[in-house]
Amino acid sequence: MAKKLYGIIGHPVGHSLSPAMHNSAFKALDIDAEYKLFDVEPEGLDKFLEGLCLSGISGLNVTIPHKIKAKEYIESNGSLDENAKRLGAVNTIKALDKNLKGCNTDGPGFYRSLVEDLKFEPEGKNILVLGAGGAATAIVMYLGNGPKNISIFDVDNNKTSALMEHYKKYYDCRKLNVIKPEDLNKAAGSSDLLVNATPIGMKESDPMPIDESLLHPGLYIYDLVYNQPMTKLVRAATRRKLHAATGLGMLLYQGVIAFEIWTDKKAPVDVMKRALKAALKG
Ligand code: NAP
Repeated sequence: MAKKLYGIIGHPVGHSLSPAMHNSAFKALDIDAEYKLFDVEPEGLDKFLEGLCLSGISGLNVTIPHKIKAKEYIESNGSLDENAKRLGAVNTIKALDKNLKGCNTDGPGFYRSLVEDLKFEPEGKNILVLGAGGAATAIVMYLGNGPKNISIFDVDNNKTSALMEHYKKYYDCRKLNVIKPEDLNKAAGSSDLLVNATPIGMKESDPMPIDESLLHPGLYIYDLVYNQPMTKLVRAATRRKLHAATGLGMLLYQGVIAFEIWTDKKAPVDVMKRALKAALKG
């Protein structure tokens, strides 16, 4: 049987950690397959997806800037899983014989990391999310009405309004609050979990995304930033003896779930985690 081909489409894709993670998994399970980078410009996306079933590519990850356009294409030319439908974005494609299946594993990846890495169950809890961009939207749309309450704060009001409008289409909007800067103290004080979904922390010189004095005893911290082994936020939380995790686990589990969608096999999680950590160290 011919070697199977998988990969990631984006523009640019050069910095992706996914090849290391997936190629290590294929090797560990003795699957004759390779995961490659496909740099596809926005104008070329439809054509690329149109030829996918005949191209020999069995599965893809989708990254910036294609997640929404890929969802639109597959909506008319294939089928979407519930997560991709609700979020309005695809990050994983499985090429079937005649059509494409579009999925989104970002929300489930976050959830699995939250439960497995942080040992935090979000159901019935108060959650504060900093940032209302792509990553925050994936998380909030996956958590849905499960938590008692989700508060969102973004420096850009348009982003919080867009997230609220989107959430309202699927869930009881009384469970989602948009927080003003002056209400951050109160929202943090009553939260069980703080999620940093801003890019603050990606650079070592970045400040804290929230004032350290707001990290109260018992608060769990999930920092989506994954390019640093330890962010200022996670360091501060650890100093205060709080449970805290970086976003490496979300990155890992979105890949684990994608791998399982493509191969119908249980992913070798530990192997993938080791490969991811090694690739991050560069
Ligand atoms: P994004 O779409 O740019 O959204 C981030 C939002 O945060 C923007 O609206 C930004 O506003 C806002 N923001 C910036 N500073 C803020 C502050 N101090 N307080 C509140 N809001 C603030 O970015 P994204 O794609 O959602 O990614 C966000 C972070 O998640 C990045 O660090 C990314 O690497 C990480 N991420 C991790 C994973 C994972 O698997 N672990 C997956 C996806 C993303 P402005 O645009 O006005 O600055």
